[in-house]
Amino acid sequence: MTYRNFSLEQLQAMDAAHHLHPFTDHKDLRAAGSRMIVSADGPYIHDSEGHAILDGMAGLWCVNVGYGRDELAQAAFEQMKELPYYNSFFRCTTPTPVLLAEKLAELAPKNVNQVFYGSSGSESNDTALRLVRHFWALEGKPEKQIIISRQWAYHGSTVAGASLGGMSAMHGQLGAPVPGIVHVMPPYGFELRQAGESEHDFGLRAARAVEEAILEHGADKVAAFIGEPVMGAGGVKIAPDSYWPEIQRICRKHDILLMLDEVITGYGRTGNWFAAQTYGLEPDTITTAKALTSGYQPLSALLVGDRIAKSLVDKGGEFFHGYTYSGHPVACAVALKNLEIIEREGLIERVRDDTGPYFAEQLAQRVAPHAIVGETRSAGLMGAIEIVRDKQTRERFPGGGVAAVCIRDHAIANGLMLRAVGDTMILSPPLIWTRETIDLAIDRILKALDLAAADLA
Ligand code: PLP
Repeated sequence: MTYRNFSLEQLQAMDAAHHLHPFTDHKDLRAAGSRMIVSADGPYIHDSEGHAILDGMAGLWCVNVGYGRDELAQAAFEQMKELPYYNSFFRCTTPTPVLLAEKLAELAPKNVNQVFYGSSGSESNDTALRLVRHFWALEGKPEKQIIISRQWAYHGSTVAGASLGGMSAMHGQLGAPVPGIVHVMPPYGFELRQAGESEHDFGLRAARAVEEAILEHGADKVAAFIGEPVMGAGGVKIAPDSYWPEIQRICRKHDILLMLDEVITGYGRTGNWFAAQTYGLEPDTITTAKALTSGYQPLSALLVGDRIAKSLVDKGGEFFHGYTYSGHPVACAVALKNLEIIEREGLIERVRDDTGPYFAEQLAQRVAPHAIVGETRSAGLMGAIEIVRDKQTRERFPGGGVAAVCIRDHAIANGLMLRAVGDTMILSPPLIWTRETIDLAIDRILKALDLAAADLA
């Protein structure tokens, strides 16, 4: 293969010499060489070896409308010609972030009507953290500083994102985290539900861990609870039905803000524009990014609830925060077109009424019975497969995650990109997947499971 006069070997050598990848063991990478993805179309990515791989992860949970959308390229091109950049500082702005903010206010839950832009989910969580603390200061309660989060949460990779998140490996490298963030148990029934405990009771117990943290630190010290409606990078951990209503009740009772991180679940993944709507929540902030542009441009939007916005406007005073690319006109033009495509093609209704339920059914009927599968679960078009050595006892394979990596490698070799998180396989495909695409993906998953089971026996 050649790419613009470079051979794959040349590209790999330059990559090894100069390019540090995110979340990568560079010693391993140097030994293995990187997989070069060179083009993509619809639900497929193409590597330099000419393989077409069904993208079960929509890139990094973001390419919701699939690849190869000329309309999005056109929207970027036209905006770049007209006005490639201007900022929203100093009482200026440009038209596309305004139009996008209006559209997002229409799509968001009723109590959420303002937008603060960034370029990534991590940045927007940083904004969210600063904003909720600023809000309480404006309200005359500056001592309300603590944010309650959860173990296994992923809220990004900046210092604030990693501090908010509950990934112990990231904390281990963080040095000094942002102070005032505490982590409680996640609603992860597969490993944490006790013998004889119902799903319902487990959901309540997990939610009450938040209340216990509030009581321990004092409600007068706690600013907010933050959570992904479905924990994504932590392994598509889906809370029992009893969890979110109880979280909302607890937040209201103690006057704690509810911050949702919908960087993955936003823009259709759970069968509604936002998972807040799927779970009937009234959040004070919603962090969004990724599928806002289907990954075609870097853009994030922190959606801000009326209570916080009213305080900002009524009390006045500058909020000393913002980014050069807040409200980037090209990224916002692409987002507007992307939302138009999602609406026009009915992708969210399709997930809610057709492919989401079908995906759940196929996982349950075809994948769950496999000898090395302990559980399957899904919400809309995000799913998880728990890998076990013993179906009855749920004992894992030795080597912490080695089995899942083996399955992932077989899946990729057989034309399906999916991801391994610990002992859990995860999927989050583009919303353009049809029943036929789901069938094909499940065929490939089963093949990968069989091959891995033989390797691991
Ligand atoms: N929050 C969640 C829930 C995410 O899944 C991610 C990224 O995967 C982020 C935040 C961070 O987003 P970014 O990588 O754009 O900074």
